[in-house]
Amino acid sequence: MNAEIIAVGSELLLGQIANTNAQFLSQQLAELGINVYFHTVVGDNATRLEAAVKAAQKRANLIIFTGGLGPTKDDLTKETIAHLLQRELVMDQEALRSIEEYFKRTKRTMTENNKKQALVLQGAEVLKNDYGMAPGMALTIASITYMLLPGPPKEMRPMFIQYGRPFLMSKLERHERIESRVLRFFGIGESQLETEIADLIDQQSNPTIAPLAGDGEVTLRLTAKHESSLEAKKLLDETEAAIARRVGQYVYGYDNDTLFSKLVERLKEQNKTVAAAESLTGGRFTAELTAISGASQIVKGGVVCYTNEIKEQVLSVPASVLATDGAVSEPCAKLLAEHVRSFCKADIGISFTGVAGPDPLEGKPVGTVYVGISISGQETEVHALLLSGDRETIRTRTIKYGCFAILKK
Ligand code: ATP
Ligand code: MG
Repeated sequence: MNAEIIAVGSELLLGQIANTNAQFLSQQLAELGINVYFHTVVGDNATRLEAAVKAAQKRANLIIFTGGLGPTKDDLTKETIAHLLQRELVMDQEALRSIEEYFKRTKRTMTENNKKQALVLQGAEVLKNDYGMAPGMALTIASITYMLLPGPPKEMRPMFIQYGRPFLMSKLERHERIESRVLRFFGIGESQLETEIADLIDQQSNPTIAPLAGDGEVTLRLTAKHESSLEAKKLLDETEAAIARRVGQYVYGYDNDTLFSKLVERLKEQNKTVAAAESLTGGRFTAELTAISGASQIVKGGVVCYTNEIKEQVLSVPASVLATDGAVSEPCAKLLAEHVRSFCKADIGISFTGVAGPDPLEGKPVGTVYVGISISGQETEVHALLLSGDRETIRTRTIKYGCFAILKK
C-alpha cells in the first residue's frame, strides 16, 4: 500500500497553523509499514481539491484526508469527494444521534447545518468521533481506499488510532504484526547515543532502530515485524536488552512517559513527597508535576524564590552567603534545597538557581545552573551544570535535569 495525505484548509496555506496532522499520520502509517509518498495541502476550494484528488488517484492506493468535515460552508471535503466518486451522501442515524446528544450535553441549541455533519458517503464505514461531532469515514472504490478524518487534532488522532488504524490493518495483504516501542533517554546527546549503538543500528533490520531528538531528550523507536505479535515483542525485548547493556543508565521510560510522569509514579510507589525552591525556573518544575493526575499525593508545594529577598526572608539563606558566594552558587543551592524541604515538611527538597540569560549574572555565564537535592538522612547533593541554549531551553533542561537526578537516586 502506498499513501498520500491530503490536508484540506486555507489556514494551512496561509501559514496560520502547521500541518501536524500529516506529521502524525505519516508516523502512524510508517508503523503500519505503509509508505507515504506524498503530502498535499489544499485550500477550502472545491475545484482545487478535486484536482488534488485526481492527482492522488494516479499515484496512491490509500488517500487520507483531514479537515473540512465540519458544519460550515467552507467545509466541503466530503461533498467534493462524493461528487468525484459519484456517491450519494446519506444520513447516518447513529452519527446524528450522537450529534444531538453532544448538543444536549453541552446545553447548546442545534442548528440545521449541524445535521450536515451526520451525512456520510454511501457504503462507507463510519469512524466514530469520540471527541467531537463530525464522524470520519473510510471506503474502498476501484482498489483505492479513501479515508476522511476531521481537522482538529484532538478529534483526528483518537479517531485514527481507535477506528482508522484497525480499518487499515484489515486491508493490509500481509498478515504481519507490527509492534513498536519507544525508549526514552535523558542525559545523553543524540550523537553520543548513536555512536554507542552504531553497530546495533547498522546490523538490525528487524527490529529497526530509529533515533529522534528534541527538547533535550533523545528517543529510540524500535519497530519489529512478525506473524505473531508475541514473537514481535520478543524481538523488541532482545534489542532493548542489547541497547540497555550499553546505555541503560540513561533510559528513564517508555512510549508516552515523560520525566515528570515517571517522577510522580516513582515517588508514589515510594510514598515520598517533594518540595521545590525555584529561582530561575519560576515555578515551572512544580507546575509540570502538578499537571499530572495523582500529583497531590507527592507534591507538597514550594517557594518561587526569584529574588534574593525571598531567598533570604522566606528560605533563610544568610545574607552573607548571598553577598559572598551569590545566589547562583553551590552553597545557596544547598541551603535552598534543605530549607524548602524543612519549610514544607517534605521528604525531598529540590532547588534550582542559575542564569537563564540572556545576560550574565553575578559574573557567571548564561547557562550556569545549580540543582540542589536534599533528602532526609542523606548528605545534600548539589549538581553544577553548564547548559547551552536560549532562556526557554535552559529553563526546560534545568527542570528535566532535576527530575532525572531524583529518579537516579
Ligand atoms: P470543524 O468541525 O472543527 O470545523 P473540520 O473537520 O471541518 O472540523 P477544519 O475546519 O478544516 O476541520 O479545521 C478545524 C481546525 O482543525 C483548524 O482550525 C485547525 O486548528 C485544525 N486543523 C485542521 N487541519 C489541520 C492540520 N492539517 N494540522 C493541524 N491542525 C489542523
Ligand atoms: Mg471546519
